[in-house]
Amino acid sequence: MTVVPPGGMLGILGGGQLGRMAAMAAARLGYRVHVFTPEADAPAADVAARATVADFADTDALDAFAAAVDAVTLEWENVPVAAIERLAGRVPVRPGAGVLAVTQDRIAEKAFAGRLGLGTAPWRGAATAAEAAAAVAELGTPCILKTTRLGYDGRGQARVRTGDDMAAAWARIGAPDRAIVEGVVDCACEVSVVLARGIDGAVAAYPAVENRHRDQILSETRAPADVPPATAAAADGAARALAEALGVVGILAVEFFVTRDGGVLVNEMAPRPHNSGHWTLDACPASQFEQQVRSACGLPLGDPTPFAGAVMRNLLGHDADRWADHLADPGARLHLYGKREARPGRKMGHVTHLLPLPPVGG
Ligand code: AMP
Repeated sequence: MTVVPPGGMLGILGGGQLGRMAAMAAARLGYRVHVFTPEADAPAADVAARATVADFADTDALDAFAAAVDAVTLEWENVPVAAIERLAGRVPVRPGAGVLAVTQDRIAEKAFAGRLGLGTAPWRGAATAAEAAAAVAELGTPCILKTTRLGYDGRGQARVRTGDDMAAAWARIGAPDRAIVEGVVDCACEVSVVLARGIDGAVAAYPAVENRHRDQILSETRAPADVPPATAAAADGAARALAEALGVVGILAVEFFVTRDGGVLVNEMAPRPHNSGHWTLDACPASQFEQQVRSACGLPLGDPTPFAGAVMRNLLGHDADRWADHLADPGARLHLYGKREARPGRKMGHVTHLLPLPPVGG
């Protein structure tokens, strides 16, 4: 169980805004960061000591990266497992390949949750459009057809209603080798839990937060979630059970649907900082990014207990052009990711307002 003390070089796989905020947290603790990213102009590379721009299949680049860093973490859960395994032969990688193998695949993820006795939306796997049509007939409409891999923010998904042409829906999600059909959950709201798990197995969880989406992209997170204590406790317990069973070292974010009777169903999970955890930068002693650095480097976890409630709003596309308004608002904490181009729906930044914490037990 290698500990990397401050002064070391932390490798981050992926170069997006999550890596950028992790790199800033690492710098605060005295680490330097080396980002490995397939994309030039990566937001994380702007704030890192070093950056490698190479494909995750480039074994020479991976070997050179492994030789240059003391520990590796990731900000994108779809880093190929083969790349993680190659690095792990040379340097600690947290979280490890086994965690990614589960969280990269919606079917593996739902089956894993099911084996722990945790509820999910009803689902079936399908390898062809005809199998998907049979699954829809079994589950009833409406359903959502999703790719098992690489979907995010609603990409690789199609809603299926009675009488819809399944071949067209299958083509719309990119005619994958394998897909999942999910029954649509009639949910009261959506919540998530972000937690960190250290190399010693200690867990530091943030309270459940409520997430609101627009066009299937997270638009707003309210912390803590305004849900009954039993619902928040169920989400917390499920996230802890998943983290334990996965043996994750690092961050685990778990998204849930809250059913009308206050129960929780696991939607998906990600072994990295999560958009719904950005509020922790401004409202908690140790943010999710600091916890990521601590866990990746084998340090004790920090205190996750919020000292304020918060509402975090994403700045998507040209929303970020209004930065001057946010700067003029004394209550607004503005975070911009330095992305050069504001495409529609692209996460350009976020703004957080602190709120009074609800009374304990309320
Ligand atoms: P996902 O990429 O699976 O998180 O889906 C993005 C969003 O689509 C979710 O946060 C929900 O708002 C909605 N969604 C996805 N799957 C379902 C489902 N089975 N039932 C209800 N809403 C869903």
